[in-house]
Amino acid sequence: SFKKSLGQNFLIDTNVLNRIVDHAEVGENTGVIEVGPGIGALTEQLAKRAKKVVAFEIDQRLLPILKETLEPYPNTKVIHQDVLKADVKEVIQTELADCEEIMVVANLPYYVTTPIIMKLLEDQLPLKGIVVMLQKEVADRMSAAPSSKDYGSLTIAVQYFTEAKTVMNVPRTVFVPQPNVDSAIIKLMRRSEPAVNIVSEDFFFSIVKASFAQRRKTLLNNLVHFLTEGKEKKHLIEQALLSADIDGRRRGESLSIEEFARLSDELYAHFKEA
Ligand code: SAM
Repeated sequence: SFKKSLGQNFLIDTNVLNRIVDHAEVGENTGVIEVGPGIGALTEQLAKRAKKVVAFEIDQRLLPILKETLEPYPNTKVIHQDVLKADVKEVIQTELADCEEIMVVANLPYYVTTPIIMKLLEDQLPLKGIVVMLQKEVADRMSAAPSSKDYGSLTIAVQYFTEAKTVMNVPRTVFVPQPNVDSAIIKLMRRSEPAVNIVSEDFFFSIVKASFAQRRKTLLNNLVHFLTEGKEKKHLIEQALLSADIDGRRRGESLSIEEFARLSDELYAHFKEA
């Protein structure tokens, strides 16, 4: 029986499995981190091409099945752990030390897609990239362009660290049981440096979040709400917008990541360094 609560929708289409491995460009020097191997269908395809595959699986009931499926592949290792609680850096250092490059490849459990991706990006892991199956709607948000309906704080968070591209849409019919959303494969290639240089990362991300807090509101109104909880410091925000050369009547969703960086640094100078 499948555990819906653990996002267990298993991929059964070998063609799709291989497309994932192709897009990840897994080769004989690649070390792979897999999240949620399930019954090991993707793990098996990865093991055929990778140097080594380490897979985190939370559901104990799957361990005997995995053991049997992966028996012919000594270059695989299953770790019975919630990936959100795992020290992935430590695992890379101990298990994948002799691999030239590290890729995360997975058919993700959809109920925790965003926390998993953000953890992998924020933990400063030595990753080349991430190629995963996820909800199409989330893939659209991660790879969105400014001014599109999917553009938001998740877009900026992901594109700050990576170049994001949806590489394939996948129909729900290739899963057992069928999920009630459509899926896509996304490719996130880690940038050697973050997309923009900023004074404070935490402040930058809080400004981005605040700018999208109420999508109908103007940038200025969202910022006033977030930074002053009243109107008394509105003029400081207006000054920062002016210095950053950004019109406060715009909506947050129209700002590029570079514009957010400029704005965040100006606001930081006016509010934090004052
Ligand atoms: N990769 C398999 C496939 O393609 O057939 C299964 C993918 S299924 C969508 C998600 C898998 O992630 C399940 O096996 C589930 O038990 C596991 N899982 C769910 N939450 C997890 C977590 N926090 N950490 C590790 N594995 C998790």
